[in-house]
Amino acid sequence: MTKTTAKTGRAVPAPSAAPGLVVDYAPSIESDKIVTIAPRQQLYIGGQWVKPVEGRYFQTTNPATLAPLSEIAEAGAADVDAAVRAAKRAYDRTWSKLSGRERGRYLFRIARLIQERARELAVLETLDNGKPIRETRDVDIPLVAAHFFYYAGWADKLGYALPGVKLAPLGVAGQIIPWNFPLLMAAWKIAPALACGNTVVLKPAEQTPLTALKLIEIFEAAGLPPGVVNIVTGAGATGAALTAHPLVRKVAFTGSTEVGKTIARSVAGSGKKLTLELGGKSAHLIFADAAIDQAVEGVVNGIFFNQGHVCCAGSRLLIEESVAERVLDKLRTRMQKLRVGNPLDKNTDIGAINSTAELEKIRRLVETGKQEGARYYEPENITLPAKGNFLRPCLFSDVASSHTICRVEVFGPVLAASTFRTPAEAIAKANDTPYGLAAGIWSEKGSKVHAVAAQLRAGVIWANTYNKFDPTAPFGGYGESGYGREGGRHGLLPYLEVVP
Ligand code: NAP
Ligand code: MG
Repeated sequence: MTKTTAKTGRAVPAPSAAPGLVVDYAPSIESDKIVTIAPRQQLYIGGQWVKPVEGRYFQTTNPATLAPLSEIAEAGAADVDAAVRAAKRAYDRTWSKLSGRERGRYLFRIARLIQERARELAVLETLDNGKPIRETRDVDIPLVAAHFFYYAGWADKLGYALPGVKLAPLGVAGQIIPWNFPLLMAAWKIAPALACGNTVVLKPAEQTPLTALKLIEIFEAAGLPPGVVNIVTGAGATGAALTAHPLVRKVAFTGSTEVGKTIARSVAGSGKKLTLELGGKSAHLIFADAAIDQAVEGVVNGIFFNQGHVCCAGSRLLIEESVAERVLDKLRTRMQKLRVGNPLDKNTDIGAINSTAELEKIRRLVETGKQEGARYYEPENITLPAKGNFLRPCLFSDVASSHTICRVEVFGPVLAASTFRTPAEAIAKANDTPYGLAAGIWSEKGSKVHAVAAQLRAGVIWANTYNKFDPTAPFGGYGESGYGREGGRHGLLPYLEVVP
């Protein structure tokens, strides 16, 4: 049993641990022997591994051990230019000349190869990102394959996506992705671009470049023509050079709202198509008639698994007042049983925070939360590994709408809870954010779910579940969560234009 005293001096009663339910698991470590990581990796341009012109490299590390994994080439403006030109050549000479059926065959082949090498990709993603193997194995990589399968199916049916008009690809797509779902974001970007007949220059996040580089082996095994996909690794300046390149016709970006705004400014007036998938501060709404245990599990899944490194994480919790104490008590009890540690252990619920900088940012925001007076709880029974970027999950309750932790995207395992008395109040509080990416509604009453969903300003709304993804469903946000949709039929349109 744990007793935690809030910083504010108000004691948070220790939830009663359910005896007999706490199970100790023996470690079950996934072997990393299946993966080979080259000590130094180059840029992939025009079907060749190329050294960066300026000769600069940076390191990617394993956030769970802080051990270096590989040295990665840093692309400068000249390298980005070469990559974009290679993509343009491939577009003009090969990719735009293929029929949709032929493009689809490449994509189907890629999807099958991803499935064949799923275990290897899952381990590599876990090593570079720090997220639990259970997530990469059961969520990320299956979804990566599913996205390629799904868009492979569309490649020869584009006329049905927007019937009655003639569609054409755009040319070169410049795509920039973040570190939280490295391979899944690469798939979300590359699969629809290729299906529609575009070629690609992709810039992975500097913290997690390894799986995108591994994907090249799969593209080569699938026989993808040189230059159709190019990878330029690097940091923000590399991304900026890519978005600014005049031959890039379409920019797709997933990342922070701040960088998204910079990119929007930089492409303004250029005629480039732009989609932005940005941050979020998504809310769960738990009504008194909800299946409470199911809701608690959904909330835990929505914010604590994956270390809260999810753009659509359910980071705000709104609970109907009459059941609030019950929900919070169950939540605290559940949090005590979360396993934080080695991401390669198949029992791990919460892995490593992706970088030391991110860990410090989360800690700062937690301190602010305590100072601003919300009730604080963390399961102190959880022992953290001595080394690596680990953090206990935590729960703030009695949170006011004005509190920083209720307004700012923490991007960590930090949940901010408050209460409501009427559906109207729940909706008003849920919408009281500049973001609008996702929401979760928990109620056994279908009519209430529909009525509430219709009034929430969020791109994705889950009912009695959370964080469920499907390539057939469009994903995207309102407000500062960005614009444009990825996934589904909607995800094709940003990569096509209507022609006479
Ligand atoms: P970030 O700093 O915005 O970085 C995203 C990508 O943009 C990285 O590849 C980054 O390169 C690159 N970049 C940085 N500055 C750039 C510039 N001026 N021009 C072009 N590219 C630039 O975000 P992050 O810290 O990696 O990811 C976390 C954020 O992404 C969170 O706010 C989260 O909510 C958001 N996110 C949103 C979604 C969604 O679908 N809406 C999904 C995932 C994440 P380097 O990393 O190499 O600096
Ligand atoms: Mg890394």
